[in-house]
Amino acid sequence: MPKFLEAVKLSNKVSMALKFFNFEATSFPGKIVQKVCPDFLSKCSEYINHPRFAVTGTNGKTTTSGILSEILDKKGLKIISNKLGANMPNGIITALAKGLYKKNGTIQNVDGVVLECDEAYFSAISNKFVFDYILITNLFRDQLDRYGEMDIARRKIIKGIELNPDIKIILNADDPSLSEITEKLNYNDDKFIYFGFNNIEYIDYEKNSNSPKETIDCPKCGENILYNKRYYAQLGSWYCACGNQRKMLDVAANAFIYPDKSILDVTYKNKKYSFITKLSGLYNAYNALGAIAAALLAGVEPNFIEDAMRSYSPVFGRHQKVKLNNGGVMTIHLIKNPVGASEVLRGLKNLKNSRMLIAINDNYADGRDVSWLWDADFESLSDFSNVIYTTGIRSYDMSLRLKYANVNPVLIETFDSTDKVSLSIEACINELNENENLVVLTTYTGLLEINKNLGKIIKKYGAE
Ligand SMILES: [Zn+2]
Repeated sequence: MPKFLEAVKLSNKVSMALKFFNFEATSFPGKIVQKVCPDFLSKCSEYINHPRFAVTGTNGKTTTSGILSEILDKKGLKIISNKLGANMPNGIITALAKGLYKKNGTIQNVDGVVLECDEAYFSAISNKFVFDYILITNLFRDQLDRYGEMDIARRKIIKGIELNPDIKIILNADDPSLSEITEKLNYNDDKFIYFGFNNIEYIDYEKNSNSPKETIDCPKCGENILYNKRYYAQLGSWYCACGNQRKMLDVAANAFIYPDKSILDVTYKNKKYSFITKLSGLYNAYNALGAIAAALLAGVEPNFIEDAMRSYSPVFGRHQKVKLNNGGVMTIHLIKNPVGASEVLRGLKNLKNSRMLIAINDNYADGRDVSWLWDADFESLSDFSNVIYTTGIRSYDMSLRLKYANVNPVLIETFDSTDKVSLSIEACINELNENENLVVLTTYTGLLEINKNLGKIIKKYGAE
């Protein structure tokens, strides 16, 4: 198939050229591939073995896919994954073309894929590429201006699943908003695998979550869902007066959340395993558990999972840490919706010796509507005793939000909305005292911009 090979070659040439000019080529080459070879997705199946995982949901897709890829990697499998989080069709096709390309100009076979898919585009991918598993992390209200209600996202995921009749569905059972997927699909029980937490313990970590608590209606009777235990947002051990309740957990865990790690005691098929991850926060414990469930289901031996959990360190601004030459550390967190932001803020609440920079953009990929800032728990910063800088296109909105959150106005410093996020970071680092840390919270396009300039920043301010 000359067209296929031509498309793969061209895509990689374009990627290399873009990289030469310091552009991260995560989506554009995919566009070219589709022009040259419109049935690329169906054709690449010939070169891709199994397992094939899709990961979708509102929050945690990149981290969950990252951990799962690392696990399969430890097992020695050659896996293609869109690690940088470009999760729309062009981004996925770019990653596939890159992974299938062999240096000598031919196509190579790979052992499987872990593809993060945007909720709205999963069906566009699964229409042409057959997956073995889909892992769904959660459904929160996110970027409403782009997709409308949560309902639409759910319907699109269901449609994508129906296109792959043999697919197995790995679901976060603690999220009642996903239970409708089970109801609507009306498949046999053995098509689903449910993961969730029986208990959460916090050690030196803020116990209370102030994430917005979405009211979820029971898909069976329409009444409000109730909880035995509610962990954060709408996640927890839930039930309804009509008898509907959280499904029996196939992969059940108890979590111990520390400021700098989490321990997960997992039970699967009557066997117990203990895993440690460097990732902190309950939201990351969910990401880890989803990846563990997927790996166990695919028959990966627990020792590979254990290795991967210990070694996995986040890429691309997900809790990324950079050692600075003042003796401090810079940490970068992505925030994009009220629940995710609130859970990140919860972990930062008792932070000492740190300044904070919050970068808010409202480009298309961020979501144009920044009203979600008002639903996120910035109130948890009211006791923050150090400087909080704001930057990005909506820096003034962010500063206003902080004032209403009772942050001491003397501590708020606003960069001009036309300033680049990476330049604001440099300005902040310049103001840090010895051993002082910088915590950066940013929306998606701010993160892209930081990522592009991170090498420069590290060169200038990084510790040896
Ligand atoms: Zn009910």
